[in-house]
Amino acid sequence: MSEGITAARYEERIGRAREALASAGHAALLIGVGPELEWLIGYPARGHERLTLLVIPASGRPALILPRLEVGAAMAAPGPAAGLVELIPWQETEDPIARVTARLGPAGGRLLVSDALKAAFLLRLQAALPAAGWLLATGVLSPLRQVKDAEELALLRAAAGAADRTVEGLLRGRLVGRTEADVAREVRDRLIAEGHDTAEFWIVAGGPASASPHHDASERVIRAGEPLLLDIGGRRLGYCSDITRTAWVSGAEDVGPDDAFRRIHAIVQEAQAAGRAAVRPGVSFASLDRAARDVIEAAGHGPDFFHRLGHGIGLEVHEDPYVVEGNEALLVPGNTFSVEPGVYLEGRYGVRIEDQVRCTESGGESLNQAERGLVVVRGI
Ligand code: ZN
Ligand code: ZN
Repeated sequence: MSEGITAARYEERIGRAREALASAGHAALLIGVGPELEWLIGYPARGHERLTLLVIPASGRPALILPRLEVGAAMAAPGPAAGLVELIPWQETEDPIARVTARLGPAGGRLLVSDALKAAFLLRLQAALPAAGWLLATGVLSPLRQVKDAEELALLRAAAGAADRTVEGLLRGRLVGRTEADVAREVRDRLIAEGHDTAEFWIVAGGPASASPHHDASERVIRAGEPLLLDIGGRRLGYCSDITRTAWVSGAEDVGPDDAFRRIHAIVQEAQAAGRAAVRPGVSFASLDRAARDVIEAAGHGPDFFHRLGHGIGLEVHEDPYVVEGNEALLVPGNTFSVEPGVYLEGRYGVRIEDQVRCTESGGESLNQAERGLVVVRGI
C-alpha cells in the first residue's frame, strides 16, 4: 500500500460526516479552503480571492464548486480523482455564489460553514440564502477529526520521527557562536532533508530567550554555558510534526548547567512523564493537564507554568482537542495531542519538553522518541 490517505478513506469520512449531518437535522456542510477540505477530500487548495467551496448535503451528491483554472489541481487530489465529488467549475466572469445557491436550492435549513471560510464569502452566502440558519461545521467535523485512523497515525509517526532526527542532528553540530536565526535556517533545511514538505515553525531560544515560550529566533549569538530551547515542526504529506527539547550548551570551556537549571529541567521532565503516564481512554483532557501541573506546583513553580499542557495535532499543528483545565471531554483511542509542560524563569531561562502522544486502547504512546533527559552538548 502506498503511503498516505486512500480514496476509500475519504469516502468513509464523507459518509460519516453526512451521517452526523443527517442525525442532527442539518442541511449541508459548506467547506472552504482549509484543513476541513483537506480532511474530507484530500485537496490542499490554497486560499485566495476566488471561491472554492465543497458542498456536502445531508442527502444528494457532494459537489466542489471551484474556479475553472483550479480544475487541474483539484483533479490531482484523491477525492476528486476518485469521483467522490462532482466538480462544478465557475468561469472567471461568473458569480460563484449563484452556483452555490443553484446547488442548494432555496435552502432553508441549517448550513454548517468551515472555520476558515472567508467572511467575505460567508456574508455573500448569507445575503443569497436569507432563509438559512448558520452554524460552524466544527461541531460535526471536529469529533470525527479528533480520532485519527491508521493511515493518519502512520503519517504522524513518520513526521514525529523526522522531527526527532532533526533535533538530534542539530544538537550534534556546532552551536556556540552562531545566531539563533542561523540555527533556525538549519532547522528548516534539516526538516526538509528528513522528508518534510514544509518547515512551519522554528523556535530557537538561547539563554534568557528560553523563558519566552513563543520566542522568535533572533540575531542573538548562542554562547557557552546557557540552555538552548528548540521547538520545531513542519508538515509531511499534510500531517504535522511538533517537538520541543531544551538542552544545555557547555562550549569549549565545558561550562555545565547550574543546579537551578538542573532542578527545573528535572521538574519539567517529571511533569511531562506524569502527563504522558495519565493518558488512557476514559479520562478527561483536563486531568492530563492536572497530572502534569501537580508536579510543577508541588515543586513550587506553579506560576512559572502559565500555558495549557497541550493541543491536538493532525492536519493542523494546533487543533482540537486542547489539553487544558476545563476541557472535561474524555479521551478515546486515536486522539493525538501534545504533552508539553514548561517552567519559565523570566530574565534567566526556561525549560519545555514536548512530545506528540496518542491515546491507545489501554494507555498512551509517544510518537516522539528523542532523549528527554537533560542533554549537555559542547556545541563546538
Ligand atoms: Zn506544540
Ligand atoms: Zn511545539
